[in-house]
Amino acid sequence: MNPTLYSLRMHSTREGKHISGAERIVPAAELARAGRALLQRALGHPRGPAAELRLSAEAIDPATIRYGRLPDVRTLPVADYLAGRRQAVELLVRAGVGRQAVDRALAALVAGPAPGGVAMRGAMLVDADSGARLEADHARGVRASRMDLTRSADRLLRRRLGRVGLNNPHVREALVLAAKVLATPGIVAELCWSDDPDYPAGYVATVADGYLRLPHLKPIGEERGGRAFFWRSGVASLEETMTFLERQVLLIDQVGTIAGLPVQEF
Ligand code: AMP
Repeated sequence: MNPTLYSLRMHSTREGKHISGAERIVPAAELARAGRALLQRALGHPRGPAAELRLSAEAIDPATIRYGRLPDVRTLPVADYLAGRRQAVELLVRAGVGRQAVDRALAALVAGPAPGGVAMRGAMLVDADSGARLEADHARGVRASRMDLTRSADRLLRRRLGRVGLNNPHVREALVLAAKVLATPGIVAELCWSDDPDYPAGYVATVADGYLRLPHLKPIGEERGGRAFFWRSGVASLEETMTFLERQVLLIDQVGTIAGLPVQEF
């Protein structure tokens, strides 16, 4: 029999401001070690140590677990962040997202998508045709949650990413998040660049083309960043989409292909 799995989630803040969040799905025997790693991460965050740390764990009913696959990964070389953004627009339009929706989402990420022009805690949920923002709270947004790799998928992913020089936590975690987003009914694509000022890369993920990595989507030093999940009506209600995204447990047991880098990076 499989051991009981736990959803383990960490969230840290300082003076009410979000610092970091991360999560795992692990068996009981690994809970203490995984919890310690998440706490250490919250304390050692580049934006400074957290003042309030929350760590919660809940047992998962095995009957509710879904299994999934990581999207295939390709890197598209771009000369600079402006070229990267033009490429992102093209990829999203090709995936069927309306031009107006792409332009509005991009403008929001450039300006800082939360009130006050700062980063959100979660993602924007954007109507794929009109570009209207559908998330109720523009500071929190919607969070992709309760997803992780199985131990063997994690090992395989690290090996495959290592061969192309991409085995770092940014890429690993973004891939797991993108897998959850692409598995969510109603979501057609995702656009992301980090709010970490030292990390200029980002990606477009689409159901048809997988995870398309763009080495430059913002200038170094820029803190504004975030995510847009493009949603289209007709497949699932908004509520069904959000419930799946935030609550459905997804364990990823299959790794996609990872294409080599066509150019030297970093
Ligand atoms: P990061 O890739 O961790 O630098 O995160 C970049 C941005 O993505 C954050 O500022 C949030 O707006 C958003 N984000 C981070 N984690 C999640 C998540 N689990 N679900 C939805 N959006 C997220």
